[in-house]
Amino acid sequence: METASPSGILSYTDADRTVREHAAKLRPHPNGINILPLLETLGRILAAPVIADRDQPPFPRSTRDGFACRAADLSTSSPLTVIGRLRAGEEWLGPSVAQHQAVEIMTGAPVPPGADCVLMIEHSIVEGHRLRPGRQIPSGENIVPAGAEAPLGTTLVPSGTRIGPKQIAAAAACGYPALPVYPRARVAILATGDELVPIDTRPRPFQIRNSNSYSIAAQVIEHGGEPLLFPIIPDDLSEIEDAIWKALDSDLVILLGGVSMGKYDFVEQALLNLHAEFFFTGVRIQPGKPVVFGRLPDRSSTPRYFFGLPGNPVSTMVTFSLFAAPLLAALSGQQDTGIGPRFAEARLAAAIPAKPGLRRFLPAYLRADADRASVRLIPWQGSGDQTAAAQANCFIIVPEDSTDLPADTPVRVLLL
Ligand code: AMP
Ligand code: MG
Repeated sequence: METASPSGILSYTDADRTVREHAAKLRPHPNGINILPLLETLGRILAAPVIADRDQPPFPRSTRDGFACRAADLSTSSPLTVIGRLRAGEEWLGPSVAQHQAVEIMTGAPVPPGADCVLMIEHSIVEGHRLRPGRQIPSGENIVPAGAEAPLGTTLVPSGTRIGPKQIAAAAACGYPALPVYPRARVAILATGDELVPIDTRPRPFQIRNSNSYSIAAQVIEHGGEPLLFPIIPDDLSEIEDAIWKALDSDLVILLGGVSMGKYDFVEQALLNLHAEFFFTGVRIQPGKPVVFGRLPDRSSTPRYFFGLPGNPVSTMVTFSLFAAPLLAALSGQQDTGIGPRFAEARLAAAIPAKPGLRRFLPAYLRADADRASVRLIPWQGSGDQTAAAQANCFIIVPEDSTDLPADTPVRVLLL
């Protein structure tokens, strides 16, 4: 029997690159594309591009309330004659705007032919039909030409984009009442541990409720996947093998617990017995060092990716976010460059002492407004402390080579 090798422990940077290299090669299921009503596509991955069905804007659009006129007329002191008024939603039926003429115009209205600029109302002195320009402006000022944002036929949102409010706006502007989306990736969640009981069972004093299956299921849903919760698996090699075998119908297998060096940590061995290929068997991070990533030969022809996440609840959440979420996004069809965890920068509210060796992710609370972002550590008892995690809205990232970080130091945070 082969034994699981403890080799293959990578730095965070190498592990991140490894996951991204695999993610970049993934293609979503071509089958099962669904057409959903526009608002129901929020958070899903677009399966065909959104195309401009006409020029955007469809007409030269005034961006200000003011007077449409000819810029050349504003260089002389002679007043202009206001020949009409045009509001958004109205068509100009009058003649072309001629020399020394102006049309009163509202934001969003089509600039009439002949005019090449819009003088803002704030810069205009009006007496009856006479307009005295308050300043000179160049030709084109306050007008977006027809098609300047996107000509007819342009791809506004490429296939493979995660749909958010901005993409919904583009689709709505082009008259899409519904959009095609890729199917949700199905993620098998397998918790292992003799101490675990289902959450609706009263635990005996030495037992633990299986909270990880739920935190990971929630993260899977947040990332647009469909969680498949499997029954708790005891720390038994052949039971773990059986469960993994049953989970191979899914798109991604996530094993929880049993990946450390303990006597009853059988997950790596079970994977090895099933002829798994390992890409890493640990990452120099804290929490989450024992995280495992690899691929199993499937019963069908496509190999199945798996992650083994350490069972300490904070490790489980952090390693999912760092490594499993980007792969899940790619399996779901996401192709845009924004794939992966979200990070931000903030200033430390209080000092953090050095502890070199591992890249640390420490539960923290980020308070940010448009001017500044400050972040403070939440006291914790280590990677099993879900109480601290529940109070956190981010994790401060302390680089592996960092010295003491005094208060006010800018740091990166993982948003989670
Ligand atoms: P392990 O990774 O299996 O060594 O587990 C590490 C710690 O996480 C132990 O204290 C476990 O009791 C706890 N743990 C493991 N699995 C879960 C789970 N599914 N839900 C909550 N805690 C867990
Ligand atoms: Mg265990």
